[in-house]
Amino acid sequence: MASKIGDKTLEQWVVSNPILKKIMAKEEVLWLNPKTGHRPSVHSAVTSNDVEEAEKRLQRFAPYIETVFPETRPWHGLIESRLVDIPKMKGFLEKTWQQSIPGRLLMKNDSHLPISGSIKARGGIYEVLNVAEQLAIRYGLLEKTDNYAILADESFREFFSKFTISVGSTGNLGLSVGIMGAKLGFRTVVHMSKDAKTWKKDLLREKGVEVREFDGDYSLAVKEGRRMASLDDKCHFIDDENSKDLFVGYATSGNRLKQQFADLGIVVNEGHPLFVYLPCGVGGGPGGITFGLKRIFGRHVHVFFVEPTHAPCFLLGLLTGLYHQVSVMDFGLDNQTDADGLAVPRSSAFAGEAIGHLVSGCLTIEDDQLFRLLKGLKDSEGIPVEPSAAAGFIGPVKLFQTEEGRRYIKEHNLTQHLDGATHLVWTTGGSMVPDPIREAYYRKAEGK
Ligand SMILES: *Cc1c(COP(=O)(O)O)cnc(C)c1O
Repeated sequence: MASKIGDKTLEQWVVSNPILKKIMAKEEVLWLNPKTGHRPSVHSAVTSNDVEEAEKRLQRFAPYIETVFPETRPWHGLIESRLVDIPKMKGFLEKTWQQSIPGRLLMKNDSHLPISGSIKARGGIYEVLNVAEQLAIRYGLLEKTDNYAILADESFREFFSKFTISVGSTGNLGLSVGIMGAKLGFRTVVHMSKDAKTWKKDLLREKGVEVREFDGDYSLAVKEGRRMASLDDKCHFIDDENSKDLFVGYATSGNRLKQQFADLGIVVNEGHPLFVYLPCGVGGGPGGITFGLKRIFGRHVHVFFVEPTHAPCFLLGLLTGLYHQVSVMDFGLDNQTDADGLAVPRSSAFAGEAIGHLVSGCLTIEDDQLFRLLKGLKDSEGIPVEPSAAAGFIGPVKLFQTEEGRRYIKEHNLTQHLDGATHLVWTTGGSMVPDPIREAYYRKAEGK
């Protein structure tokens, strides 16, 4: 008997979802999520209240963050990125793909978030701060009404040094958690998967973080980290496949973006739909952001996730309804991609269930295209990003160029509103990449 994926054989899955043929052949697809707008099948573990709590917590920490990371001064201690108009990149996309893109193209520049240079600075740092606050309050060292700048005192560093924070990561989450944890004084352990880049390990060691190299993929690194942490009751494990704190940290971006839109005079409503394109790994980052955006913009925001053709774990989790119980390997895919943060075989258990009904669809993209887009962005706007972070740019192209995309526009009655639309591409990492590696990415792109 053929082995089953959930309650069906592979063949049965393909018969009921013919798009799987293309996905298994590693062709680029735009898959529309049939559950969009439906009521969630499970009661959501995250509420608006959780996000408001997180917003307040980040405000409490702002004086501390501003003290220890002076680069956050322009944001008064909040960890935030710019929202940038990118008309030249729009021109590049239209010319290269021979596809006009009605509406305005903007970029949310998380590649240049302070402290750790990737989207993970939102969730990862938030969870570390949350752990620190809870410990300090529990031990009577801190009250919520204090000026948190006191956390920079040596006495706090000494206190936190008795505790460990650990995480399993392909790299960027490790950087965020490691840098923040070490700054507060925690003993910090990062379990890195085999594919994690050497420069990330070196940088973390320089900051005093213990890096454990693990000879397996991302899921196995997380598993190993989780196991080791469970043996130590003074160790908090940041679980990328299961963490509500990470998720709400990402979700705080909703209100921030609302303010940035207002500053640029951009409105989002019936006549001005907002399309957002997010690179997706386990789905925690893009999932949290989706939750945050839906909270603010409701049905006027349309969110698409973008994954590598070799690792579409979130797409497969949603399509099968099996979420984290399905691996890309079950569908014969190998999880091999140059997109570090997206080289993930299995999605977050948490994210799929929390936002499976909020995502409009998922796209897949070939690695070659990532490099082409990375180069296009550098050449047109002068902004460097890492390969993963370029994934979202394929979104607006495919929305208009594929049958599925056009169907989405039609079914949501958006046709007459496209000129008033805003397309927001979330660039998720890259500012910490060392120059020689950045140049190597660029040279690789020249051959594409
Ligand atoms: C982690 C990461 C993502 C995706 O976030 P997930 O929570 O894993 O879905 C996207 N881009 C970059 C650069 C990342 O590091």
